[in-house]
Amino acid sequence: MALVAAAFVLAGCRTAPTRTVGHMQDWQSEELASVPAAPSALPLAAPVTNAPLAPAPTNHFSGTWVPMARWCKTASLPEPACLATTPLPTYALRTTNGTFIFRVGSQVAHWAGIELRLGFAPQWIDRQPYLHALDLRKTVQPLLAGEPLSCSNSKPVLVLDPGHGGEDAGAKSTLGRDWEKQFTLDWARRVQTLLATNGWQVFLTRDNDRDLALSNRVAFAQQHQADLFLSLHFNSAGTDAAQAGLETYCLTPAGLPSSITRGYGDDLALAFPNNAFDAQNLQLAFRLHRTLLQVNGHRDRGVRRARFMGVLRPQQRPAILIEGGYLSNRREARLISDPAYRQKLAEAVARGLGIPL
Ligand SMILES: [Zn+2]
Repeated sequence: MALVAAAFVLAGCRTAPTRTVGHMQDWQSEELASVPAAPSALPLAAPVTNAPLAPAPTNHFSGTWVPMARWCKTASLPEPACLATTPLPTYALRTTNGTFIFRVGSQVAHWAGIELRLGFAPQWIDRQPYLHALDLRKTVQPLLAGEPLSCSNSKPVLVLDPGHGGEDAGAKSTLGRDWEKQFTLDWARRVQTLLATNGWQVFLTRDNDRDLALSNRVAFAQQHQADLFLSLHFNSAGTDAAQAGLETYCLTPAGLPSSITRGYGDDLALAFPNNAFDAQNLQLAFRLHRTLLQVNGHRDRGVRRARFMGVLRPQQRPAILIEGGYLSNRREARLISDPAYRQKLAEAVARGLGIPL
């Protein structure tokens, strides 16, 4: 990343600085370590108008920077329209499957109104926006293709994984009584009931309060020859009571930095079995993230990518992990503790999987 950033300083553009937070150990601090600073903290240098057109530089994973105008022509799409030049140059690419909004210098982008994280902040070279080739291939192209639920099985097999269990209780509700492991199990059971009456075969990695290693959850999905795998969780921001919203995760494609590393090495060169499903993972994540946002009041913390999630890496099927809200936030904790709300979350998952409810 540093090498790439240096290349663009020469072209008159500053890339997003990465903040490093060393003294906090909670979820949020790790997130700050891998997410660019807020746009207001990112003064973008005025573009150098006579800067030479940079030859699309090559990064150390053989990805290249691609001018969006040229890419759009190849893809038979209109050129992205410039929506704003300050505080960051912002572009909208209109497609038949939703509008892609991206900002130069920011990894945060939107597709059809849903937040996503690019691996690399788009760059501005000779007054043109450039995207990294891997972001185009691994994010833009799958979303451009739509969100098909690729499953040839007439009775699709879904393995649902209620997060935590037994000694591992997960996050504690700020209301003081309950734990994440109870709510994830209840959510999974509700999804199971809805899908089972609609022709799906649904298996839960645990159907009671017991410890279960991540590797056993993966092995369970393999044993049942699952077509899809969903791991269900609720979130915590420790003492940050204000943080709230929905996050949906899939495995980071090889060559891209993760949205969040949580202390994991995040070696960009690593490829895992689940990387064979990069496109389907993202499409599945988008489908479910969208229907869940309709339930949670559109508190959107984005579709994200991570490598540290051992329950996703070895999966030989599309697999995602959903963080359905913050138990450390009083409003969301109250909602999550309400069975009627958990039923809505379950219905949202079912709708995301194509069940008309
Ligand atoms: Zn969890």
